[in-house]
Amino acid sequence: MATITELKHALEHKASATTSSSRQPLSDNQYSTGFDILKQGSESSAYEKFIITQLSQLLSRLLESRACLSMLEIGPGPESVLGHLSSRLRRKITRYSAFEPNSLFFARLKEWLHNFQGTELPLSCLEAPPALHQRPFALESTLHSISATSGEDKAAGFDMVLFCHSMYGMKSRRKIIEKTLELLVNNPKGGMVVVFHRNGALNFEGLVHHQTASFPSGQIRLANKDADLDAFSPFVAGYVMQDKDADDLVRKEWRQVLREFGRHDGSNEVQLVFSSPEVMVTFNQHATKLPELTAEVPVVRGELILKNPDVRQHRPAILVRPTEIRHVQQCVHWAIKHDLQLTILGGSHSDHCVWPNVVAVDMSAFNQIQIISGQEDESVSVSGMGARIVVGAGCRSGDIIQKAMESGLTVPLGSRPSVGAGLWLSGGIGHLSRVHGLTSDAIKGAVLVSVSSGQILYIGDVPGQHRPRDAIHPENEDELLWAIRGAGTNFGIIVSVTFQTYIAPTYSIRNWVIPLQDDAEARLWLHNFDELLAKKLPRSSSADSYLYWEADQLHLGITLIESSVDKTALGKQTLELEFLGSCKSHKIVDGVGLFDTEMYMSEMHSGNSARKTSAFKRGPFLKHIGTTNIANILIAAIKSRPTPFCYIHLLQGGGAIGDHTMDGTAFGCRDWEFECVVTGIWSRHQDGTSTARVVKNWVYDVMKDLLPLSNGVYSADLGPDPRDIILAEKAFASNRPRLAHLKTIFDPHHVLAYTCPLPKKSRLPRFIILVTGQSCVGKDHFARTCVPVFESKDLSVQIISISDTIKGEYAAETNTELIRLLHDRAYKEQHRPALTAFFQAKRQQIPQLPQENFLGAVYSAEGADVLLITGMRDDSPITTFSQLIPESRMIEVRVEASQETRTQRGSQEVTSHRDVHSQRNDHGMEHLDGLNSRPTFIFENDKHGDSSIVSFVESSLLPYFHEDLWTLGNMVRQVPDFPRTGIEFRHVLEIAQQKGGLKLCTSLLRAHAPHDWSKIDRIVCCEAGGFLFASVLALQVDIPLVIVREAGKLPPPTISVTKSSSHVSYSAAEDAKEKRIEMDKDSIANGDSVILIDDVLATGKTLLAVLQLLGSAGVRSESVSVLVVAEFPIHRGRELLRRHGFGGVGIKSLLVYGGY
Ligand SMILES: Cc1cc2nc3c(=O)[nH]c(=O)nc-3n(C[C@H](O)[C@H](O)[C@H](O)COP(=O)(O)OP(=O)(O)OC[C@H]3O[C@@H](n4cnc5c(N)ncnc54)[C@H](O)[C@@H]3O)c2cc1C
Repeated sequence: MATITELKHALEHKASATTSSSRQPLSDNQYSTGFDILKQGSESSAYEKFIITQLSQLLSRLLESRACLSMLEIGPGPESVLGHLSSRLRRKITRYSAFEPNSLFFARLKEWLHNFQGTELPLSCLEAPPALHQRPFALESTLHSISATSGEDKAAGFDMVLFCHSMYGMKSRRKIIEKTLELLVNNPKGGMVVVFHRNGALNFEGLVHHQTASFPSGQIRLANKDADLDAFSPFVAGYVMQDKDADDLVRKEWRQVLREFGRHDGSNEVQLVFSSPEVMVTFNQHATKLPELTAEVPVVRGELILKNPDVRQHRPAILVRPTEIRHVQQCVHWAIKHDLQLTILGGSHSDHCVWPNVVAVDMSAFNQIQIISGQEDESVSVSGMGARIVVGAGCRSGDIIQKAMESGLTVPLGSRPSVGAGLWLSGGIGHLSRVHGLTSDAIKGAVLVSVSSGQILYIGDVPGQHRPRDAIHPENEDELLWAIRGAGTNFGIIVSVTFQTYIAPTYSIRNWVIPLQDDAEARLWLHNFDELLAKKLPRSSSADSYLYWEADQLHLGITLIESSVDKTALGKQTLELEFLGSCKSHKIVDGVGLFDTEMYMSEMHSGNSARKTSAFKRGPFLKHIGTTNIANILIAAIKSRPTPFCYIHLLQGGGAIGDHTMDGTAFGCRDWEFECVVTGIWSRHQDGTSTARVVKNWVYDVMKDLLPLSNGVYSADLGPDPRDIILAEKAFASNRPRLAHLKTIFDPHHVLAYTCPLPKKSRLPRFIILVTGQSCVGKDHFARTCVPVFESKDLSVQIISISDTIKGEYAAETNTELIRLLHDRAYKEQHRPALTAFFQAKRQQIPQLPQENFLGAVYSAEGADVLLITGMRDDSPITTFSQLIPESRMIEVRVEASQETRTQRGSQEVTSHRDVHSQRNDHGMEHLDGLNSRPTFIFENDKHGDSSIVSFVESSLLPYFHEDLWTLGNMVRQVPDFPRTGIEFRHVLEIAQQKGGLKLCTSLLRAHAPHDWSKIDRIVCCEAGGFLFASVLALQVDIPLVIVREAGKLPPPTISVTKSSSHVSYSAAEDAKEKRIEMDKDSIANGDSVILIDDVLATGKTLLAVLQLLGSAGVRSESVSVLVVAEFPIHRGRELLRRHGFGGVGIKSLLVYGGY
């Protein structure tokens, strides 16, 4: 599929070859007709998924520092793209100016701005009439001349200057951007110039981008009719011929070009399709600050030698090559100062080590390797196991293996010698993984430059002589070390790494090539390969297979790699290999020789696929490659290969990779047997052409098919292509939220923006309502009825059934009708037992399935304000899931109905949750015997009609959106690096020090209390934060206070319990100390109903101790409700309480924070 740029070049070529007649620019009418055709043919997804999404995010970010927005738009056309924004954002635009030279567009734009869209004007909150200029934007345009038209404040600049598809034909783009930067407001800072452009590369001659994003899969569809083609081709070419006959002739030729270049859409001859990738580029006021950096850091000029074919097309703002750590620090300081980004180059194999107009930092000068021998370090054993090697971040795998081998040692690395640090930091899968684990598992320590401060840090095991003089040991080193072992490209610039080493083995390599007659034979061989060979191998061996097409036939290549530190033991393993026939080749090699034995380098396609070709790969992790459904996808993939050399490489894992727990390091996928490397190949001379794009699309298509059957995705190859976002979701499994959180701590300025995409915290729904309950109680109806109530408050809402994914898989495996399973209640009930059994079996197979399903649901609702999740059957869902998305407030509404109502609604289950578990005690509180958790609310859904649901939402759920809560949240000051580096402290007690703070907080505590205050006997609080809020509250509701203090502070008689220190921010040593807490013995009576007030719920240790204290005073846990001012779910306080038998205590919090 050709791009519009390629089409433009072809049209130009054809016109020149056809006539020498002079050309003339398009008239406004001709331009407008061509534009309309383009607009009709542009896929709405490019607008919806890319332009509007990106623009909304940028504007929302601007609105964090200003209340309203002033916009200047260059070339908006007949309608501004701003009209597609949400009404909330449109209403924030209070000043609008535009330059539109086309007279027809100008008239339509004016009309559009004054016409009602539904019930309101597109920009309904303008404070002055829009300042519209019917002329091109020119370099001499000044704020004065722009403002003069509407008589507005001449000194005011714009928050955003927008070029949406309007840079075509503009010369001197750098100068234009520089000019528009002058038009940005000076105060508040943060204004930006934004460019959306079709068809890729934009050269801004050394201006540095602030942000870049792309949408590579955009398309334009065109009716295959002469009239449309005749109108469209001059629009793309940018001119017509002056002479009428010449023009007719050229247009006829152009039709042919369009038909030749526009891929016919399948069998549909009526449409032509062109590729139209979109890019977005933004500039801030520091776009010209490159000289500040180049004055300090060595710059590389001339042609860059880069391994990845795509990045060879990228032109960085500048490539610097630091030779000392202070140069790396200077890069970071420069980036932070100007709010700009960096890319880092290791071995340059990834798609994103160089990015257009971003500063690229080449680490190749840090290429030292040193073995730490016993003489230098007493702690080192001579056996290899325990010896270490310190490796500079500019080293390649080949250098490390070579150097380590000189001392008889090795490090588990990958299969290519040229691959660099990206491999170690992202995982690192190779032929020693089954015996020693991933490369990142061998990382014991590192030196890095912090991208939050520019400081040099050393973490973990870094031998003394390798610690730079100014390096400091950060207090949150455990978190940082955890993060770089598997997601290490995101948190700092690594300078060196300490690896654990192993004794270097010798390898025996045997290859087989099996031609496959048909699909059945291919399935059989994949099955046999897995069952008869791979599964039988000891950890010291691994087997890879390759599915590829050669000589008109599908082939399976098999490589068996055996390793042993005792060369004489090689080949002595008792393996049954007869079924493979005689092997094609057999070699004995060392670690360096191993690099040359890869089958795709030597055997397949006569070794051609590795010569003068470029590759693009993505790697899902699979467990059962021999099953029919996986085998069918793999076979179909090879059959649909877009070029002859594409292949699928099944790289064996398992073994020691699974010895670590999922959350032991950031590398979140451990439960798999094969990395399935879907490898797209094209000739190097086709780099950047439509062939390369088609091959990449093929890789992504195969990924789409394999993803539902995969146990994760390898993160090493993933980058900023939007299609990688969905893959990255699978790459870190349940570690994602922790990584997202750490990204905000370790890279708060987003200096490393072009790495494997970690989730952004802000995009998740703010409010998650888990709608739980038994079957047929009306959960779906409840959720649907909530939607308009939230929407009436301008909140976007999404409903997701957590069980839909599993229903999809069940339907696929059992030939059940998915549509009926989703929408036909009787059918659903009929399948319920089988579906439950299916889910339980899956869960046994993948223990973290509920977490994955939950995160999948939450991430798919990115951008919504409120997410209602139905179909969840987990016990204590808030306890289990809230720490996974600590930024969002999560509540559980349990919907209940009588057995009679449920039966009427079609339930075949005979028990009622309420009948079994929940009775009301004397005080009207739920009595939850046998339950591990208490939901935030219980909703009785026996009544017909929606009014009771609506009034429940209004009275119980909407208060969470009341502006008083935001006001309270704003009173909590964030204090960075307190009480130690890396901790973003929330000063909750600051509320009491602010005017009106205590009053507001207590009124909110009163409003959010779960019960009628007249039914409460005591308010309990402990020092110090609890005292503050509880005493004011006790005064207001006139209920006696029970004070819990550290032991020794209250006069006898008291009762006491031990409490471990809970302040998360203090050091580990402090944390280990145990204290006792106590209260007056007679301050509370057996069976009293109690509300426990505290300032913070974090680790839960304080609450646990107080609950234990209350228990020893005879207070039943179901008679206690907890109200806290601020909750920090990341510390899993609820989990601690649950583990100690307090899951049934109801807990509500006014504020929820993702940080510390
Ligand atoms: C031909 C080929 C063979 C491969 N074989 C294997 C294999 O056998 N096993 C395997 O596991 N993977 C393999 N891969 C995948 C490989 O691990 C990834 O492509 C990896 O990202 C490449 O790292 P790099 O340093 O070479 O590339 P780069 O593009 O230079 O770097 C990759 C990423 O790491 C970041 N990075 C690099 N250096 C630093 C640093 N000092 N500090 C912070 N971030 C840094 C970069 O910014 C970038 O985001 C292979 C890839 C290719 C193309």
